[in-house]
Amino acid sequence: MLDLDLNLNESDETPSENQFPELQLEYSAATSNSSVINASNAGDQEYMYPCEYNFDILKQNNLQDDKNVRFVTKQLFPDGCSEEREFNSRQQYYHRYNLQIKKTRRGPRSRSSQYREYGLVNILKTTMGTLAGEKHAKYILLVEKKKDDVESVLMEHLRINGAYWGLTTLDILGKLEAVEQEQVVSWIISCQHESGGFGGNEGHDPHVLYTLSAIQILALFDKIDVLDIEKVSSYVASLQNEDGSFSGDIWGEIDTRFSYVAICSLALLQRLDKINVEKAVKYIISCKNLDGGFGCTPGAESHAGQIFCCIGALAITGSLHYVDKDLLGWWLCERQVKSGGLNGRPEKLPDVCYSWWVLSSLIMIDRVHWIDKDKLVKFILDCQDMENGGISDRPDDAVDVFHTYFGVAGLSLLEYPGVKAIDPAYALPVDVVNRIFLR
Ligand SMILES: [Zn+2]
Repeated sequence: MLDLDLNLNESDETPSENQFPELQLEYSAATSNSSVINASNAGDQEYMYPCEYNFDILKQNNLQDDKNVRFVTKQLFPDGCSEEREFNSRQQYYHRYNLQIKKTRRGPRSRSSQYREYGLVNILKTTMGTLAGEKHAKYILLVEKKKDDVESVLMEHLRINGAYWGLTTLDILGKLEAVEQEQVVSWIISCQHESGGFGGNEGHDPHVLYTLSAIQILALFDKIDVLDIEKVSSYVASLQNEDGSFSGDIWGEIDTRFSYVAICSLALLQRLDKINVEKAVKYIISCKNLDGGFGCTPGAESHAGQIFCCIGALAITGSLHYVDKDLLGWWLCERQVKSGGLNGRPEKLPDVCYSWWVLSSLIMIDRVHWIDKDKLVKFILDCQDMENGGISDRPDDAVDVFHTYFGVAGLSLLEYPGVKAIDPAYALPVDVVNRIFLR
């Protein structure tokens, strides 16, 4: 799952889409329980999320009272569905990572949310599409059958990642039974190397990225016990370096992605005792930047994908107290652009896959209410191929399994009805994670 879509040479600058003049903003300390933030200039213009709604008209109705704020997702979706589900999934999440549910005293939030009870909901109800879950499931099953087309050939070396994306999507959509379980499990086993690690396909060299996908797929089918846990966990532990970092394979490339993958793998195998967790955490913290984000190595630029890896690893190891949640939350929520989509770094185009990297991180640090959820839901739904199924990176682009997974997983994090809850740290359905840890 950890192909981060990093393309450092891309020229997709979008200077006009992300104009957040954060230097002109100051927090309002007057509203002790509110997260309202005021523009410091007297004009009080709408800076937070430049959007198409006419705030000047709405403001005449004196509706700024924060007491009236409710999350729009609860109002958009059918009664009794999202609220109950939120309670269950969130409660399990906070229980698992020992986080406190608390109201933040300060922090940015779309001012549009202040007006949601006064007509916006009705506007969005008519403009927001619906999730074509059946079609997406059919698309994924079809991709798996078409082994000779270009996409399949390109994916050959990371077929096990593709299988993880596709199968997890099917599970979240409640369609995992459409897959021949025994066939998948025996193919996974055939990808294992004598070292204990897994390759991206049969006969390929092992890498920690593919090893996590193999474990995650087996977890989906409740088949982790087919593994020689000692052997697999020894392989993963052997990749830890003296400074606490992890290499991806025997060639030694170091990246915080591999820290997350190793920690997540060992946690799912319940063998975190095989590594020096303290050193692993220390290394991750050494990759923290002044902007609150994290890079792939110490001093490297903050990137939403890397942030997910670092925050995920810190969440799993109970180390989130090392994170400046307000500073990081601010950087992450600035990733939302006018269209509602999220980008991975400043000045880049929005992309459906960041619905996962950014959202899961915001949930883990308890700052997901700082973005406009309904606009993000709409952006993801706009990226669907309503005819043949599948989700693309941006509206009207070609669909692929990678973005289909991240789109559906993003909607799951946004508590879209009819979609199973996904765990933001383990990137597996919550019921699968509970089956492992609550057994
Ligand atoms: Zn992408």
